[in-house]
Amino acid sequence: MKSVIVVGAGIWGSSLALRLAETGWRVTLVEQHKPGHLRQASAGETRLLRCSHGDDDWYARLAWQAREDWLRLGERAGEELYQEAGMLWFAGTPDGWEHASARVLKNLDIEFEVLDPSDGGRFFPDFRGDDLSFLLWEPHAGVIRARRATQVIAGLAQAAGARLVRARAVPPAGDAAGGTAGDMAAGIAGDMAGGAAVEIDGETRHADRVVWACGAWLPELFDRLPITVTKQDTLHFAVPSAWSLPETPAWVDHGASAYGHGDVDGVGMKATSDAEGPPYEPEHGARVVDAVSVERARHYLRRRFPSLERAPLLFSQVCQYALTPDAEWLLARAAPGVWLLGGDSGHGFKHAPALAAYVAGVLDGEYEPEPRFGLHARTPSRGLRTSGEVW
Ligand SMILES: Cc1cc2nc3c(=O)[nH]c(=O)nc-3n(C[C@H](O)[C@H](O)[C@H](O)COP(=O)(O)OP(=O)(O)OC[C@H]3O[C@@H](n4cnc5c(N)ncnc54)[C@H](O)[C@@H]3O)c2cc1C
Repeated sequence: MKSVIVVGAGIWGSSLALRLAETGWRVTLVEQHKPGHLRQASAGETRLLRCSHGDDDWYARLAWQAREDWLRLGERAGEELYQEAGMLWFAGTPDGWEHASARVLKNLDIEFEVLDPSDGGRFFPDFRGDDLSFLLWEPHAGVIRARRATQVIAGLAQAAGARLVRARAVPPAGDAAGGTAGDMAAGIAGDMAGGAAVEIDGETRHADRVVWACGAWLPELFDRLPITVTKQDTLHFAVPSAWSLPETPAWVDHGASAYGHGDVDGVGMKATSDAEGPPYEPEHGARVVDAVSVERARHYLRRRFPSLERAPLLFSQVCQYALTPDAEWLLARAAPGVWLLGGDSGHGFKHAPALAAYVAGVLDGEYEPEPRFGLHARTPSRGLRTSGEVW
């Protein structure tokens, strides 16, 4: 039986553990805290699912596949992990990111509608879109109950036979995998006899494959990765009941780097910034939102949804992005049998079940990962970010 150690039980590691456990692998899932713990990126209360990705069709296709997976996983779990309330994109220019997205959606036969800004009133109790060029409506987009989903998927993985070990894993001492991913990519890594390995509490554990799915902790484990970690404040406001899902859908204002959705489960209407925050350390960084983030959100509410200008802040969370310069993910062989999976760049939750199937094919040797996911020097690009400008 093939064996794998997956390090990190965020949504990427947990989804991969589930996929591999269900396809004949002996799986050990190592997590330093608990699946769904509040420091992990996957523990956000909610995450958006959308297929629009500017002019990129790879992620769009994967998101469409993942949507089916989420609906199926919800049925299996007996709870609604994904609420398909739709998403409205606020396009500031006629030929920008949203226009490119619509072209790709059309090619992929994914449903969408182009609407006039005045149609915004159909989706929100009050809406000001006089600065906008058009609205792009994605009816099959929506909101994932992210933290809950992460716990459910980790639970399903265990039910499928994955063994969850609560421990901090490190690359084995003296192993070429320890801290030199850049060198390994250049071919300096030696042969790892006996397969891949991790070290837990001084003990070395071997498997046919090791996958380091460590989110924002990855750069501490491996040097010279093209990943920067930033602090991201998320804010939810207390709103009248009319501002709830599904009547009030998800929305993204690319030009203003703002996004959110109607109230889900009484946590309030999310209205927050997607602009990159300051550098952050995920294990010890204080989980306190900055006053300036709240001010910016109010400024945005005043401009787009004026009646919410004074809505009380109901709930806030601090999370972190693990950003690559081009927002392309990282899926790279660090040494024989050892894979790095990370650099989600703030847009990886939705894809997790479909990404897991893709990574499983790589681990099985069916294909090599897309070159875009490699350890090469990345050229900075904002094409995959849903944040156009800073607030
Ligand atoms: C504010 C915010 C908004 C976002 N919005 C969206 C969105 O709308 N849609 C979307 O698709 N995506 C979104 N994302 C991105 C999404 O949350 C991430 O892509 C996803 O959660 C990444 O999951 P992960 O498993 O890679 O990382 P994480 O969830 O961070 O998990 C990594 C895990 O590895 C564990 N770990 C690390 N090192 C070790 C070690 N040495 N030993 C053992 N365990 C270890 C950590 O404890 C952690 O649990 C958003 C992210 C943020 C921060």
